[in-house]
Amino acid sequence: MPENDCLFCKIIAGDIPSTTVLETDTTYAFRDINPQADVHVLVVPRTHHEDAEALAKAPRELADVISTGVAVAKQEGIDAAGFRLVFNTGEHAGRTVFHAHLHVLGGEQLGMFGRPGH
Ligand code: 5GP
Ligand code: ZN
Repeated sequence: MPENDCLFCKIIAGDIPSTTVLETDTTYAFRDINPQADVHVLVVPRTHHEDAEALAKAPRELADVISTGVAVAKQEGIDAAGFRLVFNTGEHAGRTVFHAHLHVLGGEQLGMFGRPGH
């Protein structure tokens, strides 16, 4: 069920515009509005799950999100060089949107992840 105040539910519904990258029955992939790499795509389950922990309780959808992430990397042509899949969870990870989403990052050499500036 869509959540009224959820930004990504609104994006999935088309109420807020986004740049589509890939669509499946259960997932939606679109370009991040503030890209942190040459390729930065977000993959969301179409149904609302607050975070990775909630999504893990729906293992089929979790698998679909990861499969779509890999399919996005192939479609974007970044699979051979390598890419990163990330779920941010909670404050220390800087998570801002409370609808589980997988970041697909690549298209250039990525820094080591961890502390700010890395
Ligand atoms: P988080 O920090 O929660 O893991 O990631 C949220 C991501 O959503 C950020 O990378 C941010 O740039 C992206 N984002 C926030 N609002 C919008 C929006 O309205 N449209 C798109 N396409 N991306 C958004
Ligand atoms: Zn939502």
